[in-house]
Amino acid sequence: MYNDKNTRKNRKEGEQNNKVRIYDSHAHLNDPQFKKDLEEVLFRAKQNGVERIFIPGYDIKSSSRAVELAKSLNFKASAGVHPHDAKDFNSETLKKLEQLVSSPHITAIGEIGLDFYKMYSPKEAQISVFRSQLEIAIKFRLPVILHVRDAFEDIFRILSEYNNELPGGIFHCFSGGPDEAEEILKFKNFYISFAGSITYRNSRAKRAINTVPLDRMLVETDSPYLTPSKVKGRNEPAYIVYTLEVISKILNIPLQIVAKKTYNNAVKILEF
Ligand SMILES: [Zn+2]
Ligand SMILES: [Zn+2]
Repeated sequence: MYNDKNTRKNRKEGEQNNKVRIYDSHAHLNDPQFKKDLEEVLFRAKQNGVERIFIPGYDIKSSSRAVELAKSLNFKASAGVHPHDAKDFNSETLKKLEQLVSSPHITAIGEIGLDFYKMYSPKEAQISVFRSQLEIAIKFRLPVILHVRDAFEDIFRILSEYNNELPGGIFHCFSGGPDEAEEILKFKNFYISFAGSITYRNSRAKRAINTVPLDRMLVETDSPYLTPSKVKGRNEPAYIVYTLEVISKILNIPLQIVAKKTYNNAVKILEF
């Protein structure tokens, strides 16, 4: 009898685990590239088990579009100014940002950060705009979504000044290696998000997968960018399975479990 019950229980758990539930924690559905066929994109996402999609802004225009979409699709969104556009940030931008942030659909500030790889804005401007937006996050008690390229040292230094007051955040599309991952794990309530870039042959971030505990991990597509290596053209949320495949293989844990854990993490940090 005991055995019977156990088998039945296991079978039931197995069935539940087989249903993949995925949270794409970073997809720019607000990008003009999705204007034409958003419905089809969302349909394919759903077919692949992607149940939730977080829509991050990157400037004022895209952040207000993110709010609109989040409202109509019942998703969550963020507002923020990308380091690329730091040079155009002024008091008017700050005012508009604060207006957007008061929407109930906005649950994070981002994407914000430092990008010294492309350097579309001067370093000083990027740092000062980053600081201003960290202050908004603290004021509104929202987590931050960080975009970091070739700037980990500066990010860690600045973040440690604000960390005590920040409710947490995400290193989106993680581009560092195991050392940077270990540094991030020291920050309370910060998550590391892996994108389609870990499917690329020379991915540095892929080497960090083993360093990140599952309860601090997220997955994302960063659509329409960073198309996984197995597919071509514009990236979309349905392709997140390729990223999950890589993680599942490296950790030797079933894909469904990785999906479930990262789903729960995303809900914890982005929907509260
Ligand atoms: Zn980014
Ligand atoms: Zn992005």
